[in-house]
Amino acid sequence: MNLCPKLRRAIRLSFCAAILTISFPAVAQSPSPVAYTVSLSSPDQHLVEVQIILPAGSAQRELQLPVWNALYQVRDFAQYVNWVRAKDRSGHPLEVREVDKSCWEIEGTKGGAIVEYQIYADAAGPFNAQLNAHHAFFNLAQILMYPVDARSVPLNVRFSHLPEGWHIATVLASSSNEFSAANYDRLVDSPVEIGNFKEADFDESDGHFRVIVDADSADYDMAGIVAALRKIVAAAIGWMNDRPFETYMFIYHFPRGPAGGGMEHAFSTAIDVSADSMKQSLDALTGVTAHEFFHLWNVKRIRPQTLEPIDYTKENYTRALWFSEGVTSAAEGTIRLRAGLLDEKQYLYRLGEQITELERRPAHLTQSAEESSLDAWLEGDSYYHRPDRSVSYYNKGELLGVMLDLAIRDASHGQASLREVLQWMNANYAKKGRFFHDSEGVREAAETVSHADLTSFFTKYVAGTEEIPWNDFFRPVGLRVEAVPAIVADAGFTASRNFDGPMSVNAVTFGSEAERAGLQVGDTIVELQGRAAGRESRQELIRLNPGDTLTVRARSRRGAERELKWKVGIRQEISYEVKNLDQVTEQQRARRAAWLKGEAQSADANSAGIQK
Ligand SMILES: [Zn+2]
Repeated sequence: MNLCPKLRRAIRLSFCAAILTISFPAVAQSPSPVAYTVSLSSPDQHLVEVQIILPAGSAQRELQLPVWNALYQVRDFAQYVNWVRAKDRSGHPLEVREVDKSCWEIEGTKGGAIVEYQIYADAAGPFNAQLNAHHAFFNLAQILMYPVDARSVPLNVRFSHLPEGWHIATVLASSSNEFSAANYDRLVDSPVEIGNFKEADFDESDGHFRVIVDADSADYDMAGIVAALRKIVAAAIGWMNDRPFETYMFIYHFPRGPAGGGMEHAFSTAIDVSADSMKQSLDALTGVTAHEFFHLWNVKRIRPQTLEPIDYTKENYTRALWFSEGVTSAAEGTIRLRAGLLDEKQYLYRLGEQITELERRPAHLTQSAEESSLDAWLEGDSYYHRPDRSVSYYNKGELLGVMLDLAIRDASHGQASLREVLQWMNANYAKKGRFFHDSEGVREAAETVSHADLTSFFTKYVAGTEEIPWNDFFRPVGLRVEAVPAIVADAGFTASRNFDGPMSVNAVTFGSEAERAGLQVGDTIVELQGRAAGRESRQELIRLNPGDTLTVRARSRRGAERELKWKVGIRQEISYEVKNLDQVTEQQRARRAAWLKGEAQSADANSAGIQK
């Protein structure tokens, strides 16, 4: 999935949360598993009916529906619960009492109980849950409540009333139509696609891979996708020297219209790429896929302590997203380079774009990478995305990953790199079932592999907001960053999207043509230049020339849609480009070659360089 005293800390401890804390370790003795049946009998109404069979246990049980999942945002899935009812094993109704908006208490459950509820699910994309006439895709945490005293016991799920011809794809263990998981966390880390999808399989690097595609067959070429996936998984597994799974599943949707994004899981990923973009090239698909696949290590297994245990009742605050997300983006670049899906020129060009994005946001001087991580929970709010309010932990985190890699190479004379940091964290945290302590844990790993004191790097650039001295980092690989002033087209507004959500205007330049045309902060951009607004709209805006007419279909906060037209203006802006130094030495060349491979320099090559 692609901040501090300022935040109101949610200290309201719900009854459910209190029970969770007290009873967590004591529940493993429950003999029979909790059994769910998910009925898909009403696809046209997008209504899912869930039945939960609770085994015999205590006289009073609580059921909690998570308030967040898939995005670091509280989305209160309970808003979609139409009703909840319960009965005992003989069919006598039991009293259901709502404890808070996401928690229900049931009396008389000593002999077991049957709980039923109806929940609406119609949000498309990898971060959501949806049932419609075409398919079902579920992040199960968004539709399945868990018994608060039995979150860590085995669970079974059965899907019933499937429309004719639909199949089920998920990594959950199955026997016929029944799926099981060791506990609720594992269950809900396994998205489920149900419908008429296409499937391909392949083996690579001793692992088995399943590719599920639910899209119009005219919009993609399965053989091309499989060929790209082989390169990505081989490059990533080779780079980490590890394959912590037997089978891994890719679930793809290529919707018409706006789309884009991916969600990582321990043994699978769900990814949306727009059909338009698939027709142009596989670039968007390979980028998101390399990112999500690398997450199977970074965040799913190399995991910050602050995300564990998952608190489904409120925010899990973490300072580590610059690493868990941003460094995953840095790894994405390295994996694509190693896979031959990106060359040096493209890689350096993209790096320049990332530096430009960070430097153009005034908030890079006021919000640190750690604060941006904590503030992830504000990303559903449009104002938060303003350039003077926030930086992205993806953007700054990726750059920090690249700079940390260069700093480690410098400090260790090329003998260590980011690869060794990640492998060390994999060996010392993931493989030992331990979680790392946010930025401190990353520093510990980086200092261990480099034998250097990196306090200043972490203080200034990770916890602090000091300007990153790009040239100091890039010099050892023979590169420099050049600020290139340019007169650029100015649309007169900035807009942002919350992952795969709609495009929302968060700033309109005072006195601009956009303002005169009537565009307002809070408007949703429905169409841009006659095309549905989505992931590609940013590129569309970048391609504009001064004097072009911009046509926007905008929806106001009150829902009224109107078409607005205005002439694109100009402003001066600085772009940053990563370029060769005037003279690049042999040593710098060797360091750069190793850096672009994501590898440390061999002792021989390095000492040869130094002797020279
Ligand atoms: Zn991510």
